[in-house]
Amino acid sequence: MPNSLISTGLKIFNAKKSLQQYLLQEKALTNTIGLVPTMGALHPGHLSLIEQAKQFNDKVVCSIFVNPTQFNDPKDLEKYPRTIEKDIELLEQVNCSALFNPPVNEIYDDNEQWHLDLGALEFLLEGKFRPGHYQGVTQVVYKLFDIVKPDTAYFGQKDYQQFLVISKMVELLKMPVKLVMCPILREADGLAMSSRNIHLSQEEHEHALILSKTLYWLKDNFDKDNIEGLRKEAESMINGRQGVELDYFEIADGKTLKPANENTENIVALVAAKVGITRLIDNIILVHP
Ligand code: AMP
Repeated sequence: MPNSLISTGLKIFNAKKSLQQYLLQEKALTNTIGLVPTMGALHPGHLSLIEQAKQFNDKVVCSIFVNPTQFNDPKDLEKYPRTIEKDIELLEQVNCSALFNPPVNEIYDDNEQWHLDLGALEFLLEGKFRPGHYQGVTQVVYKLFDIVKPDTAYFGQKDYQQFLVISKMVELLKMPVKLVMCPILREADGLAMSSRNIHLSQEEHEHALILSKTLYWLKDNFDKDNIEGLRKEAESMINGRQGVELDYFEIADGKTLKPANENTENIVALVAAKVGITRLIDNIILVHP
């Protein structure tokens, strides 16, 4: 059967008013709403969040919005992959209930201001390399929560620091939404799935594998009493790989992202590096409380 004849239930909204009308009807039926915010160029990692949301909610809204305020580099924003037709097909295949795909002026007024005191979390790791990034992230996620008013919102561990930042925002603003962190989906060779991976040449993809290889090596060899030694070794494993330019490799407290020590209960290793012109991030949980 040609694709166009397959009837699917995906509802597509570009305007927040029409999305809200749909959601009001659903909520009147006491249906629970799960939200999966994305920037599109969907891959199985995104779809795993939707599957998780479907399991625990009556209706699932996926948003696709390439948020300009979280890009500190205009060139990065310009080259961010946009594949909306393919995304719609994928959302139909996984039976997502609704797609919210607004234009920029549906989300932002001209010269809108936003600032939230996120404390040290804003300036560590990603925050250091992408100034203003988390202000932009909280600005858009606040708006999405305000528009959709989901019962639960689903985010990936892939963006570990983002999850902490959004948790902090929800706590500060006392927003009535539950947050769920979903595991990282990887390619068979270990590379964390990312919309940005489509920019990698085959050779760069090979080079990029050093990130996940190093994280798994660290997990296998982890020793709370030798954190700094292991961190340095991990750093030099990545620096030794041609074509990979390390931004940071940190072994951090999973709650604060400050450097971990032997008394830290919750430990995560986080890495960011450029492979060619593509910036990749990855992480692994080393110690659960
Ligand atoms: P993005 O479109 O990159 O903003 O990602 C949207 C959501 O999907 C975020 O919560 C990400 O953490 C999550 N995500 C991205 N890549 C993966 C992955 N490989 N596995 C699981 N979740 C992911």
